Amino acid sequence: MKTITTDVLIIGVGPAGATAAASLHRDGVKVLVVEKQRFPRFVIGESMLPRTMDLLKEVDFLAPIEACGFIHKTGAVFRRGEQICDFDFNNQAGDGWKYTFHAPRAEFDQVIADTVAARGVDIRYEHEVTQVRFSDDRVEAEIKPPDGEMLRVVARFVLDCSGYGRVLPRLLDLETPSPYPVRESLFTHITGDLRPAGRDEGKIWICMHPEGAWLWIIPFSDGRTSIGVVAEPAFYERYPGDAETQLRAIVNSEPNGAKRLANMRIVFPPHRIKGYSIGIKRLFGPRFALAGNATEFLDPVFSSGVTLAMESGLRAAQVAARQLRGETVDWQRDYADFMMQGVDTFRAYIDAWYDGRLPEVLFAAQRNPDMMPKVCSVLAGYVWDQANPFVAQAERALRALASVSTGLGPARN
Ligand SMILES: Cc1cc2nc3c(=O)[nH]c(=O)nc-3n(C[C@H](O)[C@H](O)[C@H](O)COP(=O)(O)OP(=O)(O)OC[C@H]3O[C@@H](n4cnc5c(N)ncnc54)[C@H](O)[C@@H]3O)c2cc1C
Repeated sequence: MKTITTDVLIIGVGPAGATAAASLHRDGVKVLVVEKQRFPRFVIGESMLPRTMDLLKEVDFLAPIEACGFIHKTGAVFRRGEQICDFDFNNQAGDGWKYTFHAPRAEFDQVIADTVAARGVDIRYEHEVTQVRFSDDRVEAEIKPPDGEMLRVVARFVLDCSGYGRVLPRLLDLETPSPYPVRESLFTHITGDLRPAGRDEGKIWICMHPEGAWLWIIPFSDGRTSIGVVAEPAFYERYPGDAETQLRAIVNSEPNGAKRLANMRIVFPPHRIKGYSIGIKRLFGPRFALAGNATEFLDPVFSSGVTLAMESGLRAAQVAARQLRGETVDWQRDYADFMMQGVDTFRAYIDAWYDGRLPEVLFAAQRNPDMMPKVCSVLAGYVWDQANPFVAQAERALRALASVSTGLGPARN
């Protein structure tokens, strides 16, 4: 078995892995990235948040990504029947980025991976990590190449950025069930989207379906649009037929989707993904850390996945680099606690979305003009801004806003 020695082995080169690789390489750490698939590859998660821009800039990915000409995402429009709540990133409370991107991930991920490779990082595609063993002074991984004999990688540290592959959580039994009910998503790309013009073209639409599902509509710059539905499995039983028939019927039974997508032509048979929410026991161990979707994944409703993947890839890489330099590091404080602050902020909004408090706030007859910019900052991904009460005390602030919006009187607590 051939052996390769490196400082850090990164598993997977999605946004978490590419960001981590760029940061470690810049810090002079020798990195080997192994990626199971051949790129470009399809993955869902095409709507970014403005916070992503800071991260793209931090690891010098912004210029190559801007050069792709992806459509600028300028905000998020929530719709429920005739009711509309329009967040424009120009109207955030903080001084965050006013736009970000909607990007087909095959292209986005290929560009950032190629950017890292061009800087000298060794990326091996179609190489799958099948086993990882830890000892006091090193990590040994077994890698299955596309052909030929297995490869052994000996590293000082391993960063698991394997996304839905969740290599170390599975091998080390780190997974915990999600508190959320199982949800299922059906999605594809379409053409023929009757999208709005001007700055509104780039906004994501989140449409609440009258029977408890929600739909996303994400426009791309090449004329295609990503559409998808999220619901509990029982919802889909009301729409018999194959995936395409189901998706068409669901879109047609939601008034906003029905109108905007009246001329849609489906580009590829819809994909289905189920039970994607998962919890995690811990984010790090003596010689490993988890980043991106290999950690906890909550829910897609606020498009937080890529932002959290890049943020965690960057943070984990920074702490690992310090550890490898011989510095004393505090993974709990500098990595896990930091990441959970952001995750827990999103969690409060996701809970409020599904239990109905957030829709009451968003679609209230009179919205609080001081509060909405602060909520907008959260929706832009600035979930570590302790100056924002909708971050620092997300649960309490949301409860207060919801009770005022529904006219139930002042919040308790
Ligand atoms: C229905 C749905 C909609 C979503 N919409 C959005 C959205 O609009 N915006 C958003 O930001 N996020 C969204 N997400 C979340 C988004 O998909 C993820 O958060 C994001 O892709 C995570 O990036 P990552 O780098 O952690 O993992 P990935 O992008 O999944 O990359 C992981 C890589 O690891 C590789 N890998 C896996 N196993 C192995 C192995 N054994 N060996 C080597 N390599 C391996 C994989 O091939 C893959 O390329 C959505 C999720 C769902 C379920």
